[in-house]
Amino acid sequence: MAHKISDECISCGACAGSCPVDAISEGDGKYVVNADTCIDCGACEGECPTGAITAD
Ligand code: SF4
Repeated sequence: MAHKISDECISCGACAGSCPVDAISEGDGKYVVNADTCIDCGACEGECPTGAITAD
């Protein structure tokens, strides 16, 4: 299980710095969570201004 970033993402980058394991990076048109690295802590969820991050 890993958190996911939907198409609501506006690529602001607010979430990336909140991840303790650096699982979030800029992808093609939106930010993406590396499912292999994510530990499902949920720290990023509250950082997103558009609510694009959800638990898988
Ligand atoms: Fe990183 Fe935690 Fe968000 Fe997973 S849930 S991407 S580990 S901040």
